[in-house]
Amino acid sequence: AKNMLIAGNWKMNGTHADLAGLGAFAGLADRARDGVSVALAVPHTLVFSAAQLSADTSLSIGGEDCHHKESGAHTGCVSAAMLRDAGASFTILGHSERRADQGESDADVHAKAEAALAAGLDIIICVGETESERDAGTAQSVVGTQLAGSVPDCDTARLTIAYEPVWAIGTGRTPTPDDVAAMHDHIRAALVSRFGEAGESVLILYGGSVKAANAEELLHVSNVGGALVGGASLTVADFAPIVEAA
Ligand code: 13P
Repeated sequence: AKNMLIAGNWKMNGTHADLAGLGAFAGLADRARDGVSVALAVPHTLVFSAAQLSADTSLSIGGEDCHHKESGAHTGCVSAAMLRDAGASFTILGHSERRADQGESDADVHAKAEAALAAGLDIIICVGETESERDAGTAQSVVGTQLAGSVPDCDTARLTIAYEPVWAIGTGRTPTPDDVAAMHDHIRAALVSRFGEAGESVLILYGGSVKAANAEELLHVSNVGGALVGGASLTVADFAPIVEAA
């Protein structure tokens, strides 16, 4: 059985009332088969409480973004050191929603990744093409460029990649298993060419409309090392079957 990571991304959802269910998420993590890790990225406002509530469990809590500077005059921003201080063990970086809504470039993501690693956070770097890029036949080159520009030189044990085709996020649409395999093989080749043998063991998550009904099929595709789950990570009822499919 493969090593896998099933990570939830709550995006801009959740209040402290929702953390009443966190024990059940932690239970999923504790009961997962050997080799399966379970993580939840939550809004900044919930990181501290979520980390406290899951402290003695196998559930990892992370952030969804961080600033590239350690501190300073950046009103409204949160540094990697602050996330770490609040109890996060990782952060997502370069999610397509941030690339689109906040205009984050590959260089921005690269700088954030270096800051996160320096603060002691592991990183999940997101890449993925838009629908028009896929239609134009440029999906692999777009993702290759994002990888080259976003991923810093680092200890690959602390790096996870998430392939999230933009057109599959929140739409209920997914690529075919063959298309997922082709992209994940492409990402693997890029990681190996960049990092040598160490690139072989980097987990490459698939994200975009993962749910109970398609988890088993998607998780068993070549070079898929887990899933990054949005909507279906908001409740344990939806998330549990995905963890169990890993
Ligand atoms: P959905 O699972 O809601 O499609 O979101 C995927 C995603 O963007 C996870 O980061």
